[in-house]
Amino acid sequence: MANACECRAAARRRKGGWNPFRAGLKSGLNRPMGHIHPVYAAMTATVFDEMSGLARALGAINLGQGFPDSQGPPELIAAAARALAERSNQYPPSGGLPDLRAAIAAFYARRQGLQIVPEHVLVTSGATEAIAAAVLALVQPGDEVILFQPAYDAYAPMVRRAGGVPVSVPLSPPGWTYRAEDLEAAITARTTLLMFNDPLNPAGTVASAPELAMIADACRRHDLRVICDEVWEDVRFDGIGHRSLLDLPGMAERAVKIGSAGKIFGLTGWKIGWLCAAPALLTGVARAHQFLTFTTAPALQWAGAEGLALPDAWFAARNAAWASSRERLRAGLAAAGYTVLPNAATWFLCVDLAASGIDLPDRTFSERAIREAGVASIPVSALFEGEGPRHIVRFCFTKADDVLDEAVARLAAFRETVR
Ligand code: GLN
Repeated sequence: MANACECRAAARRRKGGWNPFRAGLKSGLNRPMGHIHPVYAAMTATVFDEMSGLARALGAINLGQGFPDSQGPPELIAAAARALAERSNQYPPSGGLPDLRAAIAAFYARRQGLQIVPEHVLVTSGATEAIAAAVLALVQPGDEVILFQPAYDAYAPMVRRAGGVPVSVPLSPPGWTYRAEDLEAAITARTTLLMFNDPLNPAGTVASAPELAMIADACRRHDLRVICDEVWEDVRFDGIGHRSLLDLPGMAERAVKIGSAGKIFGLTGWKIGWLCAAPALLTGVARAHQFLTFTTAPALQWAGAEGLALPDAWFAARNAAWASSRERLRAGLAAAGYTVLPNAATWFLCVDLAASGIDLPDRTFSERAIREAGVASIPVSALFEGEGPRHIVRFCFTKADDVLDEAVARLAAFRETVR
């Protein structure tokens, strides 16, 4: 049938009678723009895209969207180039290359003491795809899903698109602590799932052991499953090893743990992510994944596998370099009169505008800073739905020293204009 259709279409094209707009009209493609799903109709571009787009258009220094400005680790670039030239460039298995799945399991055993077998790992095209696959598989219409806020801006729309109802549990700066009473108050008989980002972007904070225990306890008592977005697990500066919620008693069968080579290696454009889950959850998530991206570029998977096998000293040196960038930006902003909140993880520092004596909403500050000072940032209110703080702005510090110095000089001058 498909071939017959293609032949008729080709014949029409040859006769010059084929009109793509007419063809679209017949097949219903030219429905009015309004006929798109309301979740997307109501939406604008993400704050990350918006700020990066503005930064490109204005030639501003981009401390908004989180990415390093370096080319990435030479070891991984070389591994990817080798794989591209010498190994298969055809579809890898939908679950991911066995080499990478084994490397992820070994990485977690070595760095987090987890006992995850490669069969319980699924490779995805970035962590955002892993979140999408998990939400599509685990959320059913009418399910209530707890989102701690601030939250990655993809969570709530994904939950809604799956027919679920996001229920917000707001956290407050400067500590962004998790409170048992707030979580309990948000849970109802319809709650099935919790989304938990630890370390937390944009705050740069890490859940304490008692907070993890409290959240695990709530999951067990209310029979909840949890999507653990742990993409920042290896970007920590507090000297403490990451503890996954999945590792707490009774959580292995409830949790989908999500990780990201983009964050671990500072290669955000590669879009290599993964998730780990027990078979009862993984089977459904893998089915959702097979009809999202099906699979992920094999050369980048091989390179990721080589990277994860690098020695601990390599990861320590990477974090030391990022920590020194963090200190450079922190000290510069503090000297310029900005109140910088504590950071233990992630590539981000948050500035408290109110505590800095700046009486501007975060979005106004970000819009003025990019236009008047030429520095892009992220207004943290963009990562809240409904009520939330309007006085916190996020800056990404994984940039070259001279870029950070120039950004600080510009923000110092700008600070004088917004007193
Ligand atoms: N996680 C990135 C950040 O926080 C953004 C990812 C994206 O742009 N989709 O900056």
